[in-house]
Amino acid sequence: MGPYDYTRSGNPTRAQLESQIAALEGVPRLESGESSSSSPSNGSPSFDGGALAFTSGMAALAAALRLAPAGTRVVAGDDLYGGTSRLLAQVAPACGVEVKNVDTSDAAAVEAALFDPSNPKPVSLLMLESPTNPRMQVADIRKLCALAKKANAISLVDNSILTPVFQSPLLLGAAISMTSATKFVGGHSDVTAGLLAVKGKELYNRLYFYQNAEGTGLSPFDSWLCLRGLKTMPLRMRAAAGNACALAIFLDGHPLVKKVNFPGLATHPGHAIHASQSSSPGSLLSFETGNVALSRGIVEKSKLFAIAVSFGSVASQISLPCYMSHASIPAEVRAERGLPDDLVRISAGVEDSIDLLRDLETAFIETARELGLESGVPARGRAEASLEKAARGREQELEAKVAVLEAELAAARARSSVAR
Ligand SMILES: *Cc1c(COP(=O)(O)O)cnc(C)c1O
Repeated sequence: MGPYDYTRSGNPTRAQLESQIAALEGVPRLESGESSSSSPSNGSPSFDGGALAFTSGMAALAAALRLAPAGTRVVAGDDLYGGTSRLLAQVAPACGVEVKNVDTSDAAAVEAALFDPSNPKPVSLLMLESPTNPRMQVADIRKLCALAKKANAISLVDNSILTPVFQSPLLLGAAISMTSATKFVGGHSDVTAGLLAVKGKELYNRLYFYQNAEGTGLSPFDSWLCLRGLKTMPLRMRAAAGNACALAIFLDGHPLVKKVNFPGLATHPGHAIHASQSSSPGSLLSFETGNVALSRGIVEKSKLFAIAVSFGSVASQISLPCYMSHASIPAEVRAERGLPDDLVRISAGVEDSIDLLRDLETAFIETARELGLESGVPARGRAEASLEKAARGREQELEAKVAVLEAELAAARARSSVAR
């Protein structure tokens, strides 16, 4: 019957998405002539490994969790996506899997959890996100994946926030790269989908088995929506990241803002590690004002930012995590994890930068007036200044790139004249 006899097991549109994702994620290609006959019916036959598309990010993560047999342990981050926390806290234990949450921005803490002499259970899986959301903590992906390998554990990096456009976990040593395609791949808040990309046929075959056995493969139409999203994903992501940079510059140094969490700022504790493993700080950021009423007012008064918990859409979004996405975490635990009630999370969209900056500036001014904090608010004009500063930064970056290209060109000319 060929590879597409039944859509749960294999579908041409899903297979098209899966092979595009495998290529984007840097799954190694097989040499021509190498046998691929062992690959499952819907596999990506030209890759040593491949990608798999699921009905949601959670379905993809649940399939990956099947790789952890009963009696083993999973080591995972402590600022994970809420659905991942729920999967690990409520589904894993029922499957006989123990979960240890650690701060993955602290490599020593991860190492201690992986090689815990007091726990005889082997670690089967290391799950991490970098940067995390909403705290924007950065993990050293290369180092943690190497530690997982030493512990004989499979490493999984949830790369939903950056996608392979900005960060390539497989190339940094991860065994599995996971992406919620509901966010940037779809890009327009009209599809839920999840992706896994893996190196090596053995791991790929195990995951394909669960995709088929449990019926979690992405539908053809949703696969098509993701394929369409891929065509503009780099354009959308670069535009959104540019806006996030301008917003971070505006917020950083605003007298009513206490702290900005954005890995693009040199003051971010994970700035250097992030820059070493990613090509952009991405489009998510969060900030603290030290005043819940002020944070709330800013969120409610901004007009161009939709109040929403998701991210990755073309439209800018703003939220108060402690009252929305993270409300189910008890207040003491939130405080322990450094999630203050006044934290505001922004997901920058692709709108015009100056519109977003002016909107946020107005929200600050109006809220401050209502709360009697006018003395702390600078006059209008900071929006424009921030944009200029962001543009200058980009110009300098471009100039540096042009200088490198010119040097390369000169060297190539010199080489060719020598050859002649
Ligand atoms: C959204 C998200 C998920 C879950 O994806 P769904 O497609 O909503 O199931 C997992 N991890 C991260 C980091 C996410 O943002």
